[in-house]
Amino acid sequence: MNIYSQSLEDLENYFISIGQKKFKAIQVYDWLYKKNVTSFDEMTNIKKEIIQKLKEDFVFEVPEIVKVQKGKDVCKYLFKFKDNQSVEAVLMFHDYGNSLCLSTQVGCNMDCAFCESGRRKKVRNLTAGEMVSQILLVQNDLKLRISHVVLMGIGEPFDNYDNVMKFINIINSDRGLALGARHITVSTCGIVPKIKAFASQKLQVNLAISLHAPDDNIRNKIMKISKAYPLNELMDTIKDYIKKTNRRVTFEYILLKGVNDSEECAYKLAKLLKGLNCYVNLIPYNETSHIEFKRSSEKTILRFYDILKKEKIGVTIRREFGGEISSACGQLRSNYEEEL
Ligand code: SF4
Repeated sequence: MNIYSQSLEDLENYFISIGQKKFKAIQVYDWLYKKNVTSFDEMTNIKKEIIQKLKEDFVFEVPEIVKVQKGKDVCKYLFKFKDNQSVEAVLMFHDYGNSLCLSTQVGCNMDCAFCESGRRKKVRNLTAGEMVSQILLVQNDLKLRISHVVLMGIGEPFDNYDNVMKFINIINSDRGLALGARHITVSTCGIVPKIKAFASQKLQVNLAISLHAPDDNIRNKIMKISKAYPLNELMDTIKDYIKKTNRRVTFEYILLKGVNDSEECAYKLAKLLKGLNCYVNLIPYNETSHIEFKRSSEKTILRFYDILKKEKIGVTIRREFGGEISSACGQLRSNYEEEL
């Protein structure tokens, strides 16, 4: 078992199962996440025979950093796991802290038409430990603390629900990485049953919905998930989520030239979201050579923004990071695999 996949409760249960006191789990967690050791031998306040047992039952499994691209305000990592599968993580330097955008799966089955990551089918889910270790490696590499985590990299987090929930538990734990729940954001393309499950957990974690269209007609063309969970079902579920959690929801909206960026779309979107505790994050599209969608013009983006503002919908235009590097999600991995 990967030691980084263990929640504190898992480790407590483990120690109880081997006839030890459960507080030993806290000691191990302190070594892992406060003192950042990478072997059991460094855990000097734990008895030799227990260290031996830990070595028999757990491994320190971390991926290899195979590529790093550094930009002015961004740093992009390509990680390779021991089965040779690779994923990306992107660190963005904001004025409010260091935010790491993480992958949750190798590839993705959601097949959103505009997405570079989605061109590669899902190979497998990442374990909680594989997500945790991406944070540890970046922190260690750059000698800084990651203050925010967003699950918006390769993969659909709610298609890997159990591992993602365990990951959140580990990084949110005071004894673990102690990342505040409000500093963690999960983004989903709209898997309704999992949004319901997430709502019932009543976490303070932020929820972002990849909406990208104001109606089923357009959404069906660019997001396959929309056929399984049409917009009215999705919106009812989100209303329910807001009622249960009292949390504001973010709607991600990538502006694609001539597809979803008209004034009519902006008004429709405003109507759809009116009265909801939410805000819209407008995302200028990052063109890639493999996908035919084009970026909306600056004028169109600003017009879309103005309409939402005028209609009293909270809205921002996402700041762009790393224009000088392969910054579209999935682009680094895709370029790397083509080089091989
Ligand atoms: S946008 Fe997200 S859910 Fe859609 S294909 Fe890309 S990674 Fe998957």
